[in-house]
Amino acid sequence: MSLKSRNALITGSTSGIGLAYARALAKEGANICINGFGEAAAIEAERAGIEKEFGVTSIYNGADMTQGAEIAALVKDVETRLGSVDILINNAGIQFVSPIEDFPVEKWDQIIAINLTSAFHAMRAAVPGMKARKWGRIINTASAHSLVASPFKAAYVAAKHGILGLTKTVALEVAAFGVTANSISPGYVWTPLVEKQIPDTMKARNMTKEQVINDVLLSAQPTKQFVTVEQVAATAVFLCSDAAVNITGSNIVMDGGWTAA
Ligand code: NAD
Repeated sequence: MSLKSRNALITGSTSGIGLAYARALAKEGANICINGFGEAAAIEAERAGIEKEFGVTSIYNGADMTQGAEIAALVKDVETRLGSVDILINNAGIQFVSPIEDFPVEKWDQIIAINLTSAFHAMRAAVPGMKARKWGRIINTASAHSLVASPFKAAYVAAKHGILGLTKTVALEVAAFGVTANSISPGYVWTPLVEKQIPDTMKARNMTKEQVINDVLLSAQPTKQFVTVEQVAATAVFLCSDAAVNITGSNIVMDGGWTAA
């Protein structure tokens, strides 16, 4: 399968799952726009590295996913510099762990903005071009938390449940235009997002680091293994293939059996 001549925008792709999506799509020949925060030199090294390793064009745009106008401008920028947005992966996301009564209001607003509303803005801006060209792939990174809750993750669980409904709605609207829209719902993937929530979970649940990893994170997954970023990215590559043209409005769950229980 080749994604040569396709242009892909991946939000939140300077780290973790997003970076793995970018690398996997570039490996298939797609040109890439990376987005996200981080140290400028490290981002430039990743961007240039993708170009060199895979022989594609790779650009960077640091739009802030809390800002609707910046997201619309990001889509325009990719359309201008790469020619189109054929593949849109809404992936930027953050986590915050706290009991509801102490949950900071600004953290709620920030998580809903980054993990849910940013996907609305990006799809709103990218769908017209996809419909006009009669080809598109939209993939939204959801989570096992799109289907089940965990305590102390009010904003994250709400945003991830929301993104499923948003994905299904857009899938119906674009179905007749050669465009698919799906979510991928990983269980726990070892990335900075998971690593960073361990101290707060230790506090919220009065546990050691090992207890959080084994009794909270991996206890949810019958396989007792973290999902890898490469496995999530390979699923996205499949969703971009011709074989996946009739998969739309779906939620591909890859959670080691977590939500089967
Ligand atoms: P990560 O922390 O490694 O990466 C998050 C990315 O989002 C980074 O590139 C970061 O710079 C970017 N980002 C954060 N705030 C931003 C903003 N305001 N504007 C632009 N970019 C911003 O995390 P990850 O684990 O790779 O998570 C990626 C996605 O996968 C998230 O949506 C997350 O909810 C989801 N997810 C993660 C796991 C997991 O266990 N790691 C499980 C299920 C779903």
